[in-house]
Amino acid sequence: MSLSQKVPVATLGVPRIGRRRELKRALESYWLRKSSAADLLETARALRVENWTEQCDRGVTIIPSNDFSLYDHVLDTATMVGAVPPRYGWSEGEVPLDTYFAMARGSQGEAAGLDYANHGNAVTALEMTKWFDTNYHYMVPELADDQAFALSWSKPVDHFLEGRAFGVHTRPVLLGPVTFLKLAKSPTRDFNPIALLPRLLPVYELLLRRLKVAGADWVQIDEPALVLDLIPNEQDAFNFAYDRLSQAAPELKIMLATYFGGLDGNLETALSLPVAGLHLDLARAPEQLEAVGRLAPKDLVLSLGLIDGRNVWRANLRPILDRIKPVVAGWPLERVEIAPSCSLLHVPIDLELETALDRDIKSWLAFAAQKMGELTTIARALSEGREAVSAELESSTQAAAARLTSPKVYDPLVEGRLAFIDEDIMRRKSSFAERSRLQDETLRLPTFPTTTIGSFPQTPEIRNARAAHARGELSYIDYEAFLRKEIEATIRWQDEIGLDVLVHGEFERNDMVQSFGEQLSGFAFTQHAWVQSYGSRYVRPPIIFGDVSRPNPMTVRWWRYAQSLTDKPVKGMLTGPVTILNWSFVRDDLARSVVCRQIALALRGEVGDLESAGAKVIQIDEAALREGLPLRKSEWKHYLEWAIECFRLASTGVCDVTQIHTHMCYSEFNDIIDAIAAMDADVISIETSRSQMELLNAFEKFNYPNEIGPGIYDIHSPRVPGVDEMANLLSQARERLCDSQIWVNPDCGLKTRRWEEVRPALINMVEAARILRDAP
Ligand code: GLN
Ligand code: ZN
Repeated sequence: MSLSQKVPVATLGVPRIGRRRELKRALESYWLRKSSAADLLETARALRVENWTEQCDRGVTIIPSNDFSLYDHVLDTATMVGAVPPRYGWSEGEVPLDTYFAMARGSQGEAAGLDYANHGNAVTALEMTKWFDTNYHYMVPELADDQAFALSWSKPVDHFLEGRAFGVHTRPVLLGPVTFLKLAKSPTRDFNPIALLPRLLPVYELLLRRLKVAGADWVQIDEPALVLDLIPNEQDAFNFAYDRLSQAAPELKIMLATYFGGLDGNLETALSLPVAGLHLDLARAPEQLEAVGRLAPKDLVLSLGLIDGRNVWRANLRPILDRIKPVVAGWPLERVEIAPSCSLLHVPIDLELETALDRDIKSWLAFAAQKMGELTTIARALSEGREAVSAELESSTQAAAARLTSPKVYDPLVEGRLAFIDEDIMRRKSSFAERSRLQDETLRLPTFPTTTIGSFPQTPEIRNARAAHARGELSYIDYEAFLRKEIEATIRWQDEIGLDVLVHGEFERNDMVQSFGEQLSGFAFTQHAWVQSYGSRYVRPPIIFGDVSRPNPMTVRWWRYAQSLTDKPVKGMLTGPVTILNWSFVRDDLARSVVCRQIALALRGEVGDLESAGAKVIQIDEAALREGLPLRKSEWKHYLEWAIECFRLASTGVCDVTQIHTHMCYSEFNDIIDAIAAMDADVISIETSRSQMELLNAFEKFNYPNEIGPGIYDIHSPRVPGVDEMANLLSQARERLCDSQIWVNPDCGLKTRRWEEVRPALINMVEAARILRDAP
């Protein structure tokens, strides 16, 4: 060790899935009972060891433990504190592995070995929802009003000891008690889980004491809830909790980690807590460092979250060093740590696995492994001076400069086109009333017209054909012929059962974002850059690196072929700009709103081409519009403004007679209904079947003027809904909307279902619409 003080480097947590998705394979094989629990646990252990080794090798000095999870860290926490709902049959002692997986996925019961989605309905899983504003999903803890807690899984201690045995002294990571409760739900409507804090804290106290006994000297407690809008009551909960936790094991130091935004109104609360260290997200909220530097007690350890843990871009290090200089200069260097903005869980593992990526683009990227290198460079610059790392800093500067001026990134034509956007082109020519008259005349649909959301089952044959084509074993001509056959059969079948507005089935699409990204310029795709979406489901988001444009029509020939087979209208089917944006890694050198506009403009071209080809109905899906909402309410307005504007930019270039549909697969519209109305889609289809049409109240109250297709077939379940059941749901919709507004459709696309389920369900759906037409 040099004489100068070494500034420590932390990761806060690293991806768990394995460089080659080892965890997924091990889990799925265990769930199919093709391997034993011991095999699974051994794979998991090996992954932890690999992660620890890699972090040590790359210069990380504060190594996390308990960041690993077999499925989800919130589920781990619920299990650890014994918050296992009664339906899983557990009462005391250590929670068994299969109980844990039953909470994660529902229990397969007797049907073990069969595909869960199709057979498991013995015990339902916990609900799943998005982890803050990431695309990671956690299992929502279910707590009773009188929930009892007990330490029921010693995983944090076990993993700390495992690390020790392996020779690494780790800093265990825990999900903090207040955030845990805030993420939980209670079956009782008016019960606030935060009220359970006094019951929960003893478990955390016991755990901290055990960690101390095991030899831990620091623990990282994650409280990302501190970046949300908190009511005073919740702020008090933090004071209450940390007063107690700091006394539970006085020599065990707490690093309180906040991330996904700035502390803002919670800054005072955070700084008043008796903790030894505070981690700040300085990628999302760099400005908060100045205030913290001014207000924090000088004996606080500051963990500076400088490298973006939510994105894949290589950092430009010199400006970062310049930016923190004033505060770091006034802070004792032994009380500074360098870290990513949040755990590295949300980025892919190692850029070096990408051998097919364009070399320039690759030189602008950094995944988890590369980000560790950036962190150590920053730390060394602080402790040894910038000269000690001049080569690293120079190469970072050069990469940033190259990216800034690269012709691959910048397309003057796109900029030119964006300059022409004005209010006028983002408006339909006439009002909805006028449009709908023209559309009725042309489309001549019955009342309660029937349609589907777009995709039909992606059968094993389709997946195999796609894979064979990708491997070069199925020629393009044969693959295309195969897809046309599928489209033809699907169109014929829809015609036969009497659906009114048909779809081509989306068989050519691997994924609703990727299939567009692959045809747009400005997008790059990776081979191995997986990130966890939930459990054993991982995604490889496209990387938007440059200005987006559409070199060629993307969907027109599929639509044209499908329409040639029938006299009924076939919908043109597109993914909307906001959804493409929200499910990609987005360049960080432009505002997201600008990138979204570029995508919207490209889609506007596609909409125009579909219309010119003769499409009378075009659907633009915005599945991810709601999930892009910022964490802070104060930022909603701005987001919704530009997001809705982008949808309009994509959709308003058509004649009045062309009917624009949109689709959103969720059921909360109360707080965004005015934005939804401002989209001015002629028809919106939404997910409602599970909420018994309750969510239509929002539309009714608002006097929503345009047409609506409330989903009446729950496509998330293999169950085939009966005619009466669906007719009944429609009757409920009629109580809230005018007949002329109502469309009849499933909740979402059918790609994950099997034809055996889809066929009878849609036949019943069409029948339900008929019954309604005959009923006054
Ligand atoms: N059109 C898409 C489909 O049917 C929509 C999917 C979605 O909104 N998630 O699959
Ligand atoms: Zn959907």
